[in-house]
Amino acid sequence: MRFAGTRPTRSWLTAIPASNEMRVGIIGAGQLGQMLGLAARTLGVECCFLDPGEAPPAADCGPVIHAAFDDAAALAELASNADVVTYEFENVPVDALRVLDGKVPVYPPPDALRHAQDRLAEKRLFEHLDIPLPGYHVIDARTDLDAAADALGLPLVVKTRRLGYDGKGQFVVRERADIEPAWDALGGAALIAEQWVTFDYEVSAIGVRSVAGEILTYPLSRNVHRGGILHTSCAPVEAPELERSAASFIEGLLTHLDYVGVLALELFVCGDRLLANEFAPRVHNSGHWTIEGARTSQFENHLRAILQLPLGPTTAVGHAGMVNLIGTIPDAARSLAKGQLHDYGKTPRPGRKLGHITVIADSAADRDRLVAEIEQTVT
Ligand code: AMP
Repeated sequence: MRFAGTRPTRSWLTAIPASNEMRVGIIGAGQLGQMLGLAARTLGVECCFLDPGEAPPAADCGPVIHAAFDDAAALAELASNADVVTYEFENVPVDALRVLDGKVPVYPPPDALRHAQDRLAEKRLFEHLDIPLPGYHVIDARTDLDAAADALGLPLVVKTRRLGYDGKGQFVVRERADIEPAWDALGGAALIAEQWVTFDYEVSAIGVRSVAGEILTYPLSRNVHRGGILHTSCAPVEAPELERSAASFIEGLLTHLDYVGVLALELFVCGDRLLANEFAPRVHNSGHWTIEGARTSQFENHLRAILQLPLGPTTAVGHAGMVNLIGTIPDAARSLAKGQLHDYGKTPRPGRKLGHITVIADSAADRDRLVAEIEQTVT
């Protein structure tokens, strides 16, 4: 779906740059950096990364400055090697990005990251933009948890406001007796309590906005999490009304933030309503299916947006399903009759995202059958 700006009259394919003079500095060299780096290669664009890891996944895609994400000298070095800087990792200090932004464009804008890093700022932004969200309560003291239970009812989920990901920094309070353990577990940090949502399913909406303000959205993907970690994503979701609502939320966020690049919004589906959970100002795991399943991947479109190239079409090419490989990549994943394996080259560790498999089918039913077969084979 498209909202603003004028589509270029020439084919987007012909707009691939003829030279490899453009250089992108990427903060973070994990699997998202790796997939950005692979997409950059097809555009003839060079990447340079900053990451504290010794041998991060994206090291195959360009030089890596090995340093902490808040190392001012290393960030300055990255900027001096790049025409534009982006990030694939959300825990980068916003102030460090603002300093860089004075030297080289930094996309997505640091202010988007500021909102995404703090669940309270994020929720206030959703409210400001009339994006529906679950009820919540700010928790500054132990007694606020009782007040939250009174106001929101039980169960509720207590979350750290900052530095949470993949369900980490969360505690579900099912009954009053859980309040004490929740406070003991998380009480040292700034917290928020959320109403427990009995959703039908979860979706994510991924959108991209160019410097010129053109906005495109990908078809919604339906996501299944296990233990707070994304397990599968399937797209498209055949629910046009939900698609329209989600696209209008994305348009509101991208426009308000004067955003450039890809943004992912995670939502709960409750009947015909959507409730926003959180947004990520970056390429997202629930959009990995776009590599094989969309006319232009989220990675290529993120680069196109930040490099001021025309955006590529976001339509689906068939019915895509993605299964994450977490903790281990079993041998069976390497010999599947159907399915594209992406092995990030990471050292196996419990709970670690090591790779994913994508299948493309002619129908949603075939896709769902293939995804179930792959899940059985690899888990
Ligand atoms: P988060 O880190 O906030 O994205 O949470 C990870 C996952 O936990 C979500 O994708 C949901 O599956 C679940 N979850 C988070 N918040 C809630 C909530 N308020 N109600 C129900 N499930 C939730």
